Order: sequence, then C-alpha cells, then structure tokens
Amino acid sequence: CGIVGYVGARDVSNFLLEGLHRLEYRGYDSAGIAVLADGEIVIRKRTGRVQELAALLDEQPVTGTLGIGHTRWATHGAPCDKNSHPHIGGSGEVVLVHNGVIENYNQLRSQLQQIGYVFRTDTDTEAVAHLMAHHLEEQVKLGADVTAPATCLTALEITLRKLKGTYGLAVLFRDCPNMLIAARNGSPLVVGVGDGEYFLASDATPLIGYTEQVVYLADHELAILSPDGMEIRHRDTGRTSPS
Ligand code: GLU
Repeated sequence: CGIVGYVGARDVSNFLLEGLHRLEYRGYDSAGIAVLADGEIVIRKRTGRVQELAALLDEQPVTGTLGIGHTRWATHGAPCDKNSHPHIGGSGEVVLVHNGVIENYNQLRSQLQQIGYVFRTDTDTEAVAHLMAHHLEEQVKLGADVTAPATCLTALEITLRKLKGTYGLAVLFRDCPNMLIAARNGSPLVVGVGDGEYFLASDATPLIGYTEQVVYLADHELAILSPDGMEIRHRDTGRTSPS
C-alpha cells in the first residue's frame, strides 16, 4: 500500500518511520522496515499501526544508511506479522517491499518450491523475493560478482520479465551495500533527489521537507539509486533516460 526508501548518509530509521506515518492516510493493516546494517539485512515489522512499529524500534533500534519501509493493505495472506513486508528472498541475499498484486504467484511459488526455496509467508510478494534470489544465484554461478550493481540489476530485470500483475517494488541486496532499486508497473513511485542522497516513496508526501526535486517513475521504469547518483532505465529496452 505505501512504500518508502532511502540511500545516502543519514541514519534511515527516522525518515522511514516518519514517511510511513505520513502515508497512514492511505489505510493499511501492518508496517515494517528493512535496513542494511553492518552487511546484514535487519527487519522490523508488525501488524497494526505505524505506532506499533515505532514502539518495536524503540525496544530494538536499528542503524544504517540504506533502507526500505512498507505499510501493507493485505491482498494475499491474512494481515499478520509474518505476512507483513519487507520480505526476504533466499537466505537473506535480497529483501523487498511490494505494492500491488502478482497474478502468477502460485505458479512461480510451485516452480521455486521445486528447486528448494522454502516459503515462510502466504503472500504473493514472497514469490518475487525468492525469484530475485534465484536469479541472483544464477548470475553468480555464471561468474558474475555478487557485489556489483550490474549483477543485481540483471537479476532484477530477469525477475520482472517473469511477473504478471502490478507492482511498485523497492529492493535491497545484502552484498551490494550502496544501492536501492525501485521498479514500477501500475503502482506509483516517486524519487526525491537530494545532495548525495535519494528518497523513495509511493507518493510525494514523505518527501516534503527533505527535497523539492522529485521524479515520478513511469510504468516499466526502474530507478537505480546510490549515494553517487541515479539512473532511470526502461525495464525491457534497458534504455536510460538522463537524470
Ligand atoms: N499483494 C501484497 C500483499 O498482500 C501487497 C499488498 C499491498 O499493496 O500493500 O502482501
């Protein structure tokens, strides 16, 4: 339902939480964040109000400069802690949040189960997370460097071609510590451009006060964000637009 993300130099938790608060008006049943902290993906998520997530973060704070957050409006799988986003792919190589509905998730799920992926939730989204992890592993088997942004991007592009349905996605990779990728097909995403930092959200409200320079992604566009810059690519043609 609502998405936020950040890459830059500041500690992410505040922006993510405040952003999720500002997206509350859209309605939701649970909230969560994922932060890359010391090379590991740390997730905090909880059913209920963003206030519940804030309380959890008070008890168990998390620090890092790259993160994503989500408020969920359940379409597949009951609203509960385990079904809340973010969702992990594989054994934690990838983490993502998703708005929308993946129509072919059942088929993807059984294909992934057949090759050994273990599903821990009832969501359509988890199939995307494992599919990402699978294609990342395939790239690595072919000799690609798992820490290279190009490897992660290729795995994501292959994954997106296999999805039927709608998505706004924000994806982090455990081994690629300075990069956040956003992808849009039918669910809005906005990038806020800062100085050596980028903000991501599903509408412009969370960006207010952080930056006035915003870029709305079009359908089939990906935004690759790092402290060094932003690249916007078309999902299928790979063509980049100036940014
Ligand atoms: N279909 C996903 C789910 O049920 C995402 C729902 C949303 O857009 O919040 O978890």
